[in-house]
Amino acid sequence: MYNNWNKSKLNDQIKIVAKKMYANPSPDIIATLNTLEDLKKNQPKIFPQEERFDEQLAADKSLVHDYSNFIPSIEEFAKQDETFSFKHLNGLTERILHKRTLLSFTHDFYNSIDREFAKYFNRIFKERHNNLRITDRNQQGYSRNYITYLNTINYAYINIYRTHTIDDFINIIHEYAHTIADQMCYRPRYGKYPFIELLPLLMQEIAYDDLIRCFDDLTGDVINSDIGITKTVLKYAKETLLQQQYLSTVSLQTERKQFVNKFAEYSNNTKAKTEKIMNVTLQEKLSYVIPFLVMVELYDLYYEDTEKSLYLTKKIITMDEVDDYIKYLDSLGLHLNEHMDDYIMYQKNALKLTH
Ligand SMILES: [Zn+2]
Repeated sequence: MYNNWNKSKLNDQIKIVAKKMYANPSPDIIATLNTLEDLKKNQPKIFPQEERFDEQLAADKSLVHDYSNFIPSIEEFAKQDETFSFKHLNGLTERILHKRTLLSFTHDFYNSIDREFAKYFNRIFKERHNNLRITDRNQQGYSRNYITYLNTINYAYINIYRTHTIDDFINIIHEYAHTIADQMCYRPRYGKYPFIELLPLLMQEIAYDDLIRCFDDLTGDVINSDIGITKTVLKYAKETLLQQQYLSTVSLQTERKQFVNKFAEYSNNTKAKTEKIMNVTLQEKLSYVIPFLVMVELYDLYYEDTEKSLYLTKKIITMDEVDDYIKYLDSLGLHLNEHMDDYIMYQKNALKLTH
């Protein structure tokens, strides 16, 4: 069950899109057809082709420029102490982690949180025999969690890589949140809009709280402080600042090797560590750091005024692109870092409660 996407459904879709392509070979339709063919081969090319280094550098520079208004907020967040443990649980038993439990938790979560989210969620979820693949670390399979949303056919393929920990719940909640946001307002993965990860991050945060309520026996479980989302985001924030500072001093013609050397010098890291940092693109780091800061504010509001929090979330998901996103957030009454200390305090307390 759910070890593969439904091949005959995929073939049908390929036929339909191929027909469309002959009638109108637009770039969108060609891309959709290519993606479907990739999915059929089980090795989707979900990432853009590796760019040349000078192109990547140019992209990073313009990214820093586009998101420059966020830098003070990122700086403020980066001051947080990373030595404390963050809310992150694992060590669930196989009984709880049965696939059926995973699916029914996800179903109940989205059907209780909000009527509009439920509508979009159910549309994709009812297709789960065709478009959801749950691969196991003990089996062959693509070892990542991802979603491929195909705008031209309004359909999504989801891959969940099971770890047999509480992460499985969080990962499936995260990927389905993408399908909801994509249906409400489709955005290309690497565009200017900075909040693609906002709904997934908010939903997974609320789902943590639900999980603790749902499964009493979680309270004695292990907290893994190494891979908590907050810690990852905090690390990304710090690296973003370093990279941003260094980018402003490097010329576009600089060779990668030279860049890495300089960056290592600047960040006081070893070259090996710097290479590792560079492997996660600035785009990817920012695509988590910025929405995370917004998520913290919406999450705080969620327990104070749930309706308002979800209303603002939807507004951000469907907003038009603007020049100054910070100004836009301010106009919604969302001020980044306003509730960060509360959030961190809450995480510390959650940690105490579960020990
Ligand atoms: Zn995501």
